[in-house]
Amino acid sequence: MKYDRVRGVDPEVADALEAEVERQRDTLAMIASENHVSEAVMEAQGSALTNKYAEGYPGARYYAGCEHADTIESLAVERAKELWGAEYVNVQPHSGSQANMGVYLAMLDPGDKILSLDLTHGGHLSHGHPANFAGQVYEVEQYEVDAETGYIDYDALREHAEEFDPDIIVSGYSAYPREVEWETIQEAADAVDAYHMADIAHITGLVAAGVHSSPVGIADFVTGSTHKTIRAGRGGIIMSDEEYADDIDSAVFPGAQGGPLMHNIAGKAVGFGEALEPEFDEYAEQTVENARALGESLSEHGFSLVSGGTDNHLVLVDLRESHPDVTGGDAEEALEDVGIVLNGNTVPGETRSAFNPSGIRAGTPALTTRGFDEEDCRYVGDLIARVIDNLGDEDVKAEVAEDVQELCDANPLYE
Ligand SMILES: *Cc1c(COP(=O)(O)O)cnc(C)c1O
Repeated sequence: MKYDRVRGVDPEVADALEAEVERQRDTLAMIASENHVSEAVMEAQGSALTNKYAEGYPGARYYAGCEHADTIESLAVERAKELWGAEYVNVQPHSGSQANMGVYLAMLDPGDKILSLDLTHGGHLSHGHPANFAGQVYEVEQYEVDAETGYIDYDALREHAEEFDPDIIVSGYSAYPREVEWETIQEAADAVDAYHMADIAHITGLVAAGVHSSPVGIADFVTGSTHKTIRAGRGGIIMSDEEYADDIDSAVFPGAQGGPLMHNIAGKAVGFGEALEPEFDEYAEQTVENARALGESLSEHGFSLVSGGTDNHLVLVDLRESHPDVTGGDAEEALEDVGIVLNGNTVPGETRSAFNPSGIRAGTPALTTRGFDEEDCRYVGDLIARVIDNLGDEDVKAEVAEDVQELCDANPLYE
């Protein structure tokens, strides 16, 4: 991928853009929230729509000249409805965090109560962490996963809801490798007359393809991002029944945002269209198969997986048992040196810190996009184990770096 026009005016930025394409080509993107969109999605995102103001919604804009913006936003909405089976969809949130903000602004008053999963147990900042606006504006308490099993402790969640009496319960997670029981959480919410927001940011694509159960039609609100397991470019989305449409529309604009990023909405429309093709279902299935193979391989190498395995696109490794002296940060750094890019992550019952956690999180969405199968992912597990078992051994690192390069060359990207 060349950036000749950028180069003509700005060689510094062009160098970095081209180097980034090379970086993506020559490394394994295993950050569980990342993926590689198609060049069609990127072309739509790089379109002239970046010039257009389109405050409002299709057919009811505050500016003239919105007919093509209307066409594109309507296509994105219709395709999203088809993908997830929702009655109402808003595709304007700039990101997943803004989607959550939209729901909070629509349904909560300052001081209202949020019950969400603890960040170190797999939750997300936007679910009410003190560093996020939600943690500052609302009263937040958090539930946890069961320390023994690594699964959401649904009984404790129900009891916690009864004690705390939240206005909204948030489900959906950033580092949770298991299927979520949406109905169980909905029952807990109903029992205390709270809303339920299911944030499927990580698993939007898996849900669309039917390889993870869907909260649409169960939870009151479903939010998500459009760039993780669905390859529609960076952005957010909100879904609900028609009854909340007006509230959500006005919470997103003008409540939380100004003009929508119409070029990104064009990317969403194209990416959703791609996801409606039968090949996308195969992709999502393969992503899950690949995560399972990766998890099995790591387990065979003695690593301990939170919850013992995975039902989705990611594995969470707790290094404390197998490698008590290796932190998630150490592992992340050594793996980056060989071209395996993933992140250190907190684990349930974290004994270190968010900056230097005890685990690593690894996902297969991006590798699967490049064409990796189970055998490849099992082999990637071997490579990860070799690096972590031989931390500091530069010869091992050099060998593994070559193996990684071979894998990259065999599965080309953006040719
Ligand atoms: C990634 C993620 C989000 C959205 O993050 P953005 O970076 O704002 O798109 C929201 N919720 C969860 C659970 C996530 O994992």
